[in-house]
Amino acid sequence: MKVLKFGGTSVGSPQRMKEVSSLITSDGEQKIVVLSAMSGTTNSLVEISDYLYKKNPEGASNIISQLESKYLGHVEELYSTEEWKSKTREFIKEQFRYLRSFTKIHFTSFEEKVILAQGEIISTNMVTNYLIESGIKAILLPALEMIRTDKNAEPDFEYISNRCAKALADNPDYEIYITQGFICRNAYGEIDNLLRGGSDYTACLIGAALQAQEIQIWTDIDGMHNNDPRIVENTKPVRQLNFAEAAELAYFGAKILHPTCIQPAKFAGVPVRLLNTMEPDAPGTLINNEFNAGKIKAVAARDNNTCIRINSSRMLLAYGFLRKVFEIFEQYRTSIDMICTSEVGVSLTVDNTAHLADIVSELKKYGSVSVEENMCIICVVGDLRPANRGFETLACEALKDIPVRMISYGGSDHNISFLVKAEDKKRTLQALSATLFD
Ligand code: ADP
Ligand code: ASP
Ligand code: MG
Repeated sequence: MKVLKFGGTSVGSPQRMKEVSSLITSDGEQKIVVLSAMSGTTNSLVEISDYLYKKNPEGASNIISQLESKYLGHVEELYSTEEWKSKTREFIKEQFRYLRSFTKIHFTSFEEKVILAQGEIISTNMVTNYLIESGIKAILLPALEMIRTDKNAEPDFEYISNRCAKALADNPDYEIYITQGFICRNAYGEIDNLLRGGSDYTACLIGAALQAQEIQIWTDIDGMHNNDPRIVENTKPVRQLNFAEAAELAYFGAKILHPTCIQPAKFAGVPVRLLNTMEPDAPGTLINNEFNAGKIKAVAARDNNTCIRINSSRMLLAYGFLRKVFEIFEQYRTSIDMICTSEVGVSLTVDNTAHLADIVSELKKYGSVSVEENMCIICVVGDLRPANRGFETLACEALKDIPVRMISYGGSDHNISFLVKAEDKKRTLQALSATLFD
């Protein structure tokens, strides 16, 4: 069985929902289909929550009303029979009544998670109803009964595996199993989510849990490009990536994939294919275990990093210094991304600054501490084994006019990372493309 995930743009209008429906039913094979919310909806739900946090129920109500009339318009366009128009209309009205109820109560992060879940709940109901109206044997399997995180907010893989297998075993005779991406329950049974862009993660978790034949991520572009197409012109699709290369690119900013979604697929050895809904016959990108020697594959950039530098003359030849530094980050549950050391200091980057003030205050016990915000990690991915001479110098050569703050090379065989100021991000990406790919 294959697991197919369609992102927000792919289900962004009634017309697109119809196209996705014909795409998933064209071969008559049984499949699991993970859907995002219609594009723009999760952003609107975030805005509604923002108004409610700010105790402005009127602002929230205005967006709720605009969103509701948009959805009721979609219902008229999507279905051809009055029976399914009326069924779906009633469902949508009920969901919006529920959304409105939040404008009258005390608002916390718990309510916010419930609001954010509505986009996927509505889109999956719409598509399932459309398939059933079209005579397809389709069923909606609620993600809230299958996907759960544990006390560390990590996916509870054993639970997910058991619940996915049970959901299929209980409903054996369907062609299409639809479920929601992004949404889940947490260890306490509350509604939660896998962070923005998390539908990719849902698809990979389900694909890994069921040992699927393949996980397909359908989006609005022909696979992973060799640089960020929003910033650099003439980027090109990369046809094959190793799991490790794809995980690195996703973690370091290639928005086409959720940062951690490749891990479960890699763990289970299930290949992932990135495909384009607007151009279904294009080859896209295949992510698997194969390693393509002698190639630099792609460049990605991750924003909003903070660089912390600890200088200490006492560090000179002192063992145990790094342990003390790391323990502080561990104590504040803050993970470190890049790190560079010298005899007198250590520079590192974090993206979670929730406990930055406390961390800096503790670090001052061990040396002089300086902090630089608004930094960007630029990551070059491909065959960067030491034996493959010249690629790291080529990447460095590309950046000869850019003030590079940190360089990390040698941590793995497939990555070299540079830390630059946010204002230098664009020209860094352009320079790397010009040198490495043109
Ligand atoms: P979806 O809503 O389907 O999940 P996303 O917007 O999350 O889609 O991801 C697709 C987008 O990712 C593309 O439209 C593209 O602008 C952006 N993107 C950023 N970096 C890359 C890259 N290296 N390759 C392809 N797309 C990228
Ligand atoms: N709808 C969610 C978001 O916009 C999840 C996703 O689309 O992957 O972030
Ligand atoms: Mg996405």
